[in-house]
Amino acid sequence: MTIQAYGAHAGDKPLEAMSITRRTPGASDVLIDIAFCGVCHSDIHQVRAEWAGTLFPCVPGHEIVGRVSAVGGDVSGFKPGDLVGVGCIVDSCRECAECADGLENYCNHMVGTYNGRTADAPGHTLGGYSQQIVVDERYVLRIRHAEDQLAAVAPLLCAGITTWSPLRHWKVGPGKKVGVVGIGGLGHMGIKLAHALGTHVVAFTTSESKRDAARALGADEVVVSRNPDEMAAQAGSLDFILNTVAAPHDLDAFLALLKRDGTMTLVGAPATPHPSPQVFNLIMKRRSLAGSLIGGIPETQEMLDFCAEHGIVADIEMIRADEINAAYERMLNGDVKYRFVIDNASLAG
Ligand code: NAP
Ligand code: ZN
Ligand code: ZN
Repeated sequence: MTIQAYGAHAGDKPLEAMSITRRTPGASDVLIDIAFCGVCHSDIHQVRAEWAGTLFPCVPGHEIVGRVSAVGGDVSGFKPGDLVGVGCIVDSCRECAECADGLENYCNHMVGTYNGRTADAPGHTLGGYSQQIVVDERYVLRIRHAEDQLAAVAPLLCAGITTWSPLRHWKVGPGKKVGVVGIGGLGHMGIKLAHALGTHVVAFTTSESKRDAARALGADEVVVSRNPDEMAAQAGSLDFILNTVAAPHDLDAFLALLKRDGTMTLVGAPATPHPSPQVFNLIMKRRSLAGSLIGGIPETQEMLDFCAEHGIVADIEMIRADEINAAYERMLNGDVKYRFVIDNASLAG
């Protein structure tokens, strides 16, 4: 079927309206009418070819929510009318140790929701800045929030799981002091989730204007990282730091804030490397520097259910699809509180 989408034909071209095709749903497929799609900073990195290997045309979008409109004959978990989500993964090998552990995000054959190799035209996957998507039910998530929250649920599908997975893996909870660095789409979800997990949260921002807003999200303390005195006051005090910053920066400034045996996990994925940290900043306190990639399908469902139970959604600003290029510029200037979400009904014209 042919549908409307928004995407780019080259890394140096703006996004524009385009027609794309979706495969006819197979036996295990779910056809989803996309209601809303969140706008992740990874969309910018990918569509502008800042990371290696972007395939064009590129239709970004991996924070997808909508309603099931049809299912294949073998689908048992979903029926037409269900509220569902699709995150960053639409396929994987289903056989390796990672897939068996429900960590499809680390499968060597993971297929991304956009820019992943597929047999479907045009040979790579096209994402959620589009009217509909066809996804195997193994990679479809159930949404238990109220329908009027649907737009604000969309960012949970990437920003939510990318912060939830490391917070859970490194056992963040009561009695721990946790830093969240960079208060954008990911960071604001990191603050909300860490707060809901019962931990003491310190938000680190470069933006003085976010000082009060970060407290409203659930931060117990807010540090403006450009202020050396505020940074020094946190030295050696944090158990864990989740670093979401989308640009290269001095990691040592944050490693120095970890306690003995503390860990800083990077989820931000800048196009150019960070300056390498000082070895002594790691060895003197047995500190760890780690990374984490989105999350697996079972833990994404766990996060969605936790958020439904605790009334957690993203703070969003809704846009039309034809406002996407301006939205990207605002994101690059840190001018969004905290996630743009496309109203996919605007794709109809
Ligand atoms: P975003 O909404 O643009 O937020 C990034 C935040 O980083 C900004 O709001 C800003 O917060 C801070 N920042 C400080 N200096 C910056 C600079 N020079 N340029 C840009 N940001 C700066 O982005 P996002 O959607 O949260 O994504 C953040 C990063 O995570 C991106 O690199 C994205 O590709 C990556 N990502 C990784 C995964 C994964 O699986 N690991 C998944 C999704 C996204 P303050 O104003 O508070 O300083
Ligand atoms: Zn993302
Ligand atoms: Zn696998």
